[in-house]
Amino acid sequence: MPCEQRIPMLSFLDEKTLTKVAEVFGNEEAIRIIDVLKGVKEITDDQIANKTEIRLNIVRKILYRFYDRSLVALRRSRDQNTGWFIFHWRLQPDQLEGFILNQKRHVLEKLQTRLGYEKDHDFYYCSTPGCKKIPFEDAMELVFRCPTCNKLLMHYENGKIIKVLAEKVEQLRKELSE
Ligand SMILES: [Zn+2]
Repeated sequence: MPCEQRIPMLSFLDEKTLTKVAEVFGNEEAIRIIDVLKGVKEITDDQIANKTEIRLNIVRKILYRFYDRSLVALRRSRDQNTGWFIFHWRLQPDQLEGFILNQKRHVLEKLQTRLGYEKDHDFYYCSTPGCKKIPFEDAMELVFRCPTCNKLLMHYENGKIIKVLAEKVEQLRKELSE
């Protein structure tokens, strides 16, 4: 079938990028569907379901999620015999690249905000797993009692968290400037 011919993928659309896209969607089916899509020029949802052995309605659901983010393009044709629509799907490599960049920028922004927050605040903590670390100003109002477990709040050394956050921020910055 002509639509199943393999085409050479653009060089920047590497394995890692595709896996990351799939991870964003958070399931193993998405990874398998991307895997099939990246090897063909165009393919119908029926064919994807056959190749991946994922149920057709799930294949369609995932495809429409990709479609919502413009990660795939869609072409409709009509089946000569049944008169039903056939949907042909293909990857949009440049959109995928942009999608990944946006995800990274978004994560970087969040990490920077968190890093700033950790640096700007002195934290107090009761050491009970599941309880929150409380900034000094709030801890003072609580007279240094944990509002959840009522234990005494002690100063919490967040140097380690700051170090880890700073490293992640640096790594993402590098990736984004490449
Ligand atoms: Zn507590």
